[in-house]
Amino acid sequence: MTGRPEILFPLFGDLTKLDGVGPKTAQHLGQLQIEKPRDLLFTLPYAGIDRQRRDTIRDLPPGTVVTVEVVVGTHRPPRSKGGAYRIHVQDAGTEFTLVYFHARADYLSRLLPWGQRRVVSGKIDHFDGMAQIVHPDHVVPPAEAETIPAFEPVYPLTHGVSQRLMARAAAGALALAPDLPEWIDPTQKAREGWPDWRTALEDAHAPETQADLAPVAPARVRLAYDEFMAHQLTLGLARLRRRRAKGYVTKGTGALQAKVLESLPFALTGAQTRAVDEIANDMAAPLRMNRLVQGDVGAGKTLVAFMALLIAVEAGAQGVMMAPTEILARQHMEGLRPLAEAAGVRLDILTGRDKGTGRRDKLAALAAGEIQMLVGTHAVFQKDVAFHDLRLAVIDEQHRFGVTQRLELGQKGHAVDVLVMTATPIPRSLALAQYGDMDVSVLDEKPPGRKPITTALVSTERMGEVVDHLRGAIADGRQAYWVCPLVEESEAVDLTAAEDRFKHLRAALGEGRVGLVHGQMPPGEKDAAMARFEAGETAVLVATTVIEVGVNVPNATIMVIERAEIFGLAQLHQLRGRVGRGEAASTCLLMYRPPLSETARQRLTVLRETEDGFRIAETDLEMRGAGDLIGTAQSGLPRFRVADMEHQAALMEVAQSDARKLLAEDPELQSDRGQAARLLLWLMEQDRAIKLIGVG
Ligand code: ADP
Ligand code: MG
Repeated sequence: MTGRPEILFPLFGDLTKLDGVGPKTAQHLGQLQIEKPRDLLFTLPYAGIDRQRRDTIRDLPPGTVVTVEVVVGTHRPPRSKGGAYRIHVQDAGTEFTLVYFHARADYLSRLLPWGQRRVVSGKIDHFDGMAQIVHPDHVVPPAEAETIPAFEPVYPLTHGVSQRLMARAAAGALALAPDLPEWIDPTQKAREGWPDWRTALEDAHAPETQADLAPVAPARVRLAYDEFMAHQLTLGLARLRRRRAKGYVTKGTGALQAKVLESLPFALTGAQTRAVDEIANDMAAPLRMNRLVQGDVGAGKTLVAFMALLIAVEAGAQGVMMAPTEILARQHMEGLRPLAEAAGVRLDILTGRDKGTGRRDKLAALAAGEIQMLVGTHAVFQKDVAFHDLRLAVIDEQHRFGVTQRLELGQKGHAVDVLVMTATPIPRSLALAQYGDMDVSVLDEKPPGRKPITTALVSTERMGEVVDHLRGAIADGRQAYWVCPLVEESEAVDLTAAEDRFKHLRAALGEGRVGLVHGQMPPGEKDAAMARFEAGETAVLVATTVIEVGVNVPNATIMVIERAEIFGLAQLHQLRGRVGRGEAASTCLLMYRPPLSETARQRLTVLRETEDGFRIAETDLEMRGAGDLIGTAQSGLPRFRVADMEHQAALMEVAQSDARKLLAEDPELQSDRGQAARLLLWLMEQDRAIKLIGVG
């Protein structure tokens, strides 16, 4: 597949070839991310205006759009410059006025000559108790009434682009759209009653009722499905490619795992055991593993990762675990050290802070295979880090990386097995969009004996009470996190807010009892502050959201989050997961700055009612939309033009199984349907997939 198929050329041509689109308009359209006719096809009307004819506007409420035939009466030009030009008209049941501003009198007398009949269409409003239509959208002689659409599509607009222009440009693009062979499974298409691609486009651009605009309208569903299908084909191709890439066969003996399990005061949960088995199977197969372990905070992912790393060590090889931050890498090191000791495994840490001879010695020990297990930050993947025999790479808290980054990582040589762990309990549909190229193990069971966390909403106006309460709690030997959000455009402002809170709490609770960590601190200071909190020297840790993921201090049982209303629910859930890890009962105070909107209250209430991360994520998706949930920019989630992840998410699952099935039957996309699917990939600009097919 060398280049774009000819049949698609017109859709990827210049916008200016369309009627009514000049260079200037083309430039304006760019603001809507419309750069070629293809983009116009997938920019659908988001609303419609009912312009069915009526006899009269009588008794209709203001705001109603009407199309009505009138007899034109007297014209009243404005009394002062810039005033309203009023034209009296009469329909079959009542009288009203048409109002114009800044219009030329001669133009208006030609448009609406006294005594003549005209069909006008526009929105009714009321002024001084009189009905009027300001600047009607359409005014035509009765003979041309047909030209007013009964249901007029409403497109997204931008400066310099009117509805009329968008409708015309869309029609022009539609005229260029060829009939394309079908890429959707015929049985499924028939079952769902979906139209052909071209018909779907025509229908979607020419809605006849409100129902045609709904996310369940067949034309829209089909077009959304096409987007999901293209995305899933891309992920599917990436998965296939990787599975075909030869991997190591890594079989453990179980000996080291058994030692570790013996040393633990608890047994693995069923979900943990399942995940470890799935990983062991993948590692033993001659394919390259690409598996995601998805589990809520506290589900025990670290232990699963450790068990997986032990398989590599049991096989006489090495494993590495990468965390997104220095703090987390150190915590993993501390948490895993006793387990490694129990297994008799040499574990070490490598971060950006290793320098000079210390670093050189570690690299030498790694290259010699003496260090069997390494934890660290991205420093573990630096060019000069060589392993003796690396078999497994674990990437913790993956949600900070996007699809693209992960696909790139997978292409970077090394046939090592990859295990990715995410604590973001995202809904299944999003998981499929984001991780469709991976195999997934879900930790859907928490270790037993967790105490529920009491969650309360508190206004910042009650700061004094909160601090008093905190004073009592720390006198009882408890510890607390106090999170100040990053809100403002400028991080400096936020930092000041966190520092002010830090000073305030120090003054209220005792100088030595309060610590501070934030993202801008020199790493050494950050570690020191964390260490003092972990050791119980400080009782309260004021933090920006650097503590978001992974941190584990079981004695910390209070979590205060300021400005909780501006956080995403998933993020709040993550933060709250920092407490409730020890023996004592835990509390989470969500502080908001009043007034709290009704939606915000509803959202926060969900957190109060449940600790089920998946339920929270579903609600967050419903209330905020997919983009916000994981932050589109960093989520790596593709932007869909037609598809709407909130309402059409269920389609993603169908698209994944359809795409995987097609690829299983026709991995090179050579069959008729495979060829059609190639067209789809070109049409949807899935460059990455196209490259993958090209290589194969
Ligand atoms: P996650 O990374 O999934 O948020 P962790 O791996 O940090 O969770 O585990 C949270 C806590 O639960 C740790 O203190 C860990 O020792 C403990 N834990 C893990 N698995 C179990 C289990 N099966 N039973 C009891 N406690 C467990
Ligand atoms: Mg973890």
